[in-house]
Amino acid sequence: MNAIDKLGLLADLDGSFCELNHGPGVPQGDYPACNYLVVPIGYRDQSHTDIVVRELVIPVCHECAAALLGEEWTLFYCLDCGRSQWICRALARLRYRHHILWLHGCPHCAERLRGLSFNDFPAVDGKAEFLIPEAA
Ligand SMILES: [Zn+2]
Ligand SMILES: [Zn+2]
Repeated sequence: MNAIDKLGLLADLDGSFCELNHGPGVPQGDYPACNYLVVPIGYRDQSHTDIVVRELVIPVCHECAAALLGEEWTLFYCLDCGRSQWICRALARLRYRHHILWLHGCPHCAERLRGLSFNDFPAVDGKAEFLIPEAA
């Protein structure tokens, strides 16, 4: 991301709200954003070079940023519709070790899941990348 884009995003942060799921019935707008989650979207070419086509930028609040960095929660985020769901690792049937699993299609927007990407694009390896690292 270039410096101009970054400055623009930071200027917008004041009026932005967390776009992650805070539970059913919680209105968006209750949680002011304090940071952005930055997700490189792209692929790997034949020479194994990471090609970033675009960056998805998701406003997140302090609470969600902390959860993304901790070991207690795993976030499912649908790249197709932007819906998200937190899974408490201690209660999950499967053992999750990634902080984020990216879905291509979810129950809200597709009849079936078309794919999970937690490692097909190396730059998105389940890690949380923030625009403002020190604020997380
Ligand atoms: Zn949040
Ligand atoms: Zn979806």
